[in-house]
Amino acid sequence: MSVVTAGPSAVDAPSMDGLRACVHCGICLPQCPTYRVLGQEMDSPRGRLYLMRAAAEGRIGLTPTLARHLDLCLGCRGCESACPSGVPFGSLLEATRSQLERQGVRAPGSDHGGLSMLLQWFPYPDRLGALLPWLRLYQWSGLQGLVRGIGLLAPFSRLRAMEALLPRLASAGAAALPEVTPPSGEPRGRAGLLVGCVQRHFFPEVNAQTLRLLAAAGYEVVVPREQGCCGALHLHSGRLDDFRGMARQLMRAFPADVDVVVANAAGCGSALKEYGHWLHEPEAEAFSQKVRDISEVLADADLPLGAVPVAVTYQDACHLAHGQKVRAEPRALLGRIPGLRLVEMADSDLCCGSAGVYNLLEPGMAGELGRRKAERIRETGVSVVAVGNPGCIMQIGQTCRGLGLEVEVLHPVTLLARALDNQGGGR
Ligand code: SF4
Ligand code: SF4
Repeated sequence: MSVVTAGPSAVDAPSMDGLRACVHCGICLPQCPTYRVLGQEMDSPRGRLYLMRAAAEGRIGLTPTLARHLDLCLGCRGCESACPSGVPFGSLLEATRSQLERQGVRAPGSDHGGLSMLLQWFPYPDRLGALLPWLRLYQWSGLQGLVRGIGLLAPFSRLRAMEALLPRLASAGAAALPEVTPPSGEPRGRAGLLVGCVQRHFFPEVNAQTLRLLAAAGYEVVVPREQGCCGALHLHSGRLDDFRGMARQLMRAFPADVDVVVANAAGCGSALKEYGHWLHEPEAEAFSQKVRDISEVLADADLPLGAVPVAVTYQDACHLAHGQKVRAEPRALLGRIPGLRLVEMADSDLCCGSAGVYNLLEPGMAGELGRRKAERIRETGVSVVAVGNPGCIMQIGQTCRGLGLEVEVLHPVTLLARALDNQGGGR
């Protein structure tokens, strides 16, 4: 069998300054989920940086072995938060993945066809939406219980993994939001709401709650009809040309006069904030400057919140904590809900194993990380887990269900919306 090796390309090459900023101190190693599980240097941030730099300097080729170590990386950027030298691991990883992609280098046994198939569905709201009537029928007819009960999908590992992640679907029409909603509070400006792909179809109530909270905070909310996918999955898998096409389409969909572009999915928000970096265009930079996570927008809003007496633990979605450096705002917002008791869990900023479509491509590592996350949740003794990313909600929900841990996993805006509903009696 011939071994494929290839040299680096000048197009979307990783930053040499970024690669050389690593001083090999190893401080990031305990914060790396794959290193914690495997204990292998080449599956740590330092090891991966060593390989990426050697490839960028032409000392080694872009080999299938290098591809395997990068495939196993979650792209969670926990190492970036830990690094005292400011190594921009996420963008170095994405640039190196794009080099592998351009040269057609695959890891041995890699499920590249599976990745391509997933990228044909998840980032296309119309295609994903076309599946929904069938998925609702599957759930509502009782077929789902039967299929799960007799393990019908056991021989089909990908299909079984996808089916296990499926949340309870809302009825048709729940995803429809008005194009423009006036503010119900003291006017503060005009907000454009990103509805996402998975979020709009699998968690439409989160978008409706986000809209309601923004209006209550004083924003006129615009939901552009023509918005498509933000391109995050393509960015993280190194398909940068496709990512840029999606980014340009999305930016065109938003009116130029919005004061803020609001994301409620950590992965999407992080990608939007990086348009300026990857597109090298002033318009993209200006767009990125307007992007905020919903927790940042609501942080200083005067919301009338009633009591929600429940114990909650908060999981930091990686692309919120590490990608956007947003940690305090969601906790502060939850802390403002009367009666809500926030219980910190150990390793709350360690990846749950979701990581886009990683849990479908690397089920072994994702399953182990999910199991560890569920144990940390169990230790808190709470009945509710709040996390600001749809993929994490599905991954944690599925893992806890599988382990018999009875917790409700939801977006923080769902708790805020419940508090808004309870304002009459609990404030
Ligand atoms: S991105 Fe996450 S999995 Fe990858 S090296 Fe950094 S900490 Fe480890
Ligand atoms: S990435 Fe940062 S923390 Fe990790 S070894 Fe390099 S310099 Fe140290």
